[in-house]
Amino acid sequence: MTKSSMKQFTFNFIDQNEKAIACVSDSIFYFGELGMQEHESAGLLCDLLDAENFRVERGISGFPTGFCATYGTGSPVIAIHTEYDANPNNSQVSGVFEPTHITPFAPGHCEGHNCNAAVLVAGAIAAARAMSEYNLPGTIKIFGAPGEEQLISRPYYVRDGWFDDVDVALHDHLGGDLGTVYGLTHSAAISAYFRFFGQTSHASVTPWNGRDALDAVVLMDMGMAQFREHMKPEWRAHRVIKEGGDQPNTIPAKTMVWWTFRAPDAEGAKIVFEQGKKIAEGAAMMTNTEVRCEIMSAVWPVRTNQGLAEVIKSNMDIVGAPDWTKKEHDFARTIQKKIGAEPLGLLNEVRPLNGPSKQRAPSNDCGDISWKVPMGRIGFPSNIPGVAFHHWTGGAALTTSIAHKGAFVGAKVLAATVLDLLTVPELVERAKATFADEIAGVEYQPLIPEGQEPPIDLNRETMEVFRPSMRAHYLTERPVFM
Ligand SMILES: [Zn+2]
Repeated sequence: MTKSSMKQFTFNFIDQNEKAIACVSDSIFYFGELGMQEHESAGLLCDLLDAENFRVERGISGFPTGFCATYGTGSPVIAIHTEYDANPNNSQVSGVFEPTHITPFAPGHCEGHNCNAAVLVAGAIAAARAMSEYNLPGTIKIFGAPGEEQLISRPYYVRDGWFDDVDVALHDHLGGDLGTVYGLTHSAAISAYFRFFGQTSHASVTPWNGRDALDAVVLMDMGMAQFREHMKPEWRAHRVIKEGGDQPNTIPAKTMVWWTFRAPDAEGAKIVFEQGKKIAEGAAMMTNTEVRCEIMSAVWPVRTNQGLAEVIKSNMDIVGAPDWTKKEHDFARTIQKKIGAEPLGLLNEVRPLNGPSKQRAPSNDCGDISWKVPMGRIGFPSNIPGVAFHHWTGGAALTTSIAHKGAFVGAKVLAATVLDLLTVPELVERAKATFADEIAGVEYQPLIPEGQEPPIDLNRETMEVFRPSMRAHYLTERPVFM
């Protein structure tokens, strides 16, 4: 059996299952679950893999919405992982040209992790069917990674040994084109809760008896604002005030501000974080309050491997970008105009693989995996080039044929890449050799504090508020793979 006919077998499988793949993507779109609360999404993905005879372990590393599903035996061991969480206030109707809520102010998908999940299961099932059909040795381990938007789960997986026997890893993420990269792509980040504790008192009768924990939050903000002048251009610091007090006539005794600090490398992220801690301590001192800092998440920068990028790119050239219709191009152009992007429509070309990529400011918790084992990234065109993620334009295409066709090609590239890695040992060896050069002796150590437990209650209350009204929009159909 030639490799190209094995690949064709997986392509045929994906062609025959377009309806199921679209249904996985759309189901997760309407679940719209925030990080750590992806119960419906993870449950659906596990059920689908279970039905295909994967050995499914749910709730790994203490994450109720995390899982590992294994197929096959022996080496090589190929891990495939992605995320399926949504974002707050992102309940955008897909297929329209204006900001329109599905459920007012509810969470939703305005980036497209629903498509990431569809590609993960479709590519994995296609590869497993081929492994069974052609008796291929080797193991694929499919990881569901909760809470990507808060940069949570994958450092725990690596810390807890889930990648100790893995030879190479693949991550899939949608974007505006079909392409892959190698080199450092994302930043390191440390995100932390700063809790301030003061003393309540009547704000108009006896304000002098109070110690104001909100003042401390405000002063920390001012301290960070002054620090910005001394930050390197590529450093980032951003925050939300999660607890700001209860009512104006009672001086707040308890507040919390959540900061994320980023830099191109782990050392830089630590520098910005340490300065943030000093500023918090200063703010506490000025307001006679106490501060407690809790690290919420901490991730290494994402780096992707040259050897794997070359394998992925060769399969992108085989699969090719989707054949877009005029209607799809026109839809894309209208949305691009709305966000002030160039109205180019959709892209028909595979992105060239030109040397190491430019490192950018965002982060992804798969960074930790990428320093443990060689990791490749499959970028597939389920969204419109130029849209802004977490903005309504980022959600406008996510249940349209654009998202679906992008996912079909993403799943094909994923399945074909897995087949290459299973059948050509030299490709795994080349990935390992280029990885050794790339990390240049750096030994991975988790940035999360020792003994840290997953924040399993994160976003629970918000989902409890919105889920009943969101449920009315769930798809009634369940995906079935033929
Ligand atoms: Zn993402």
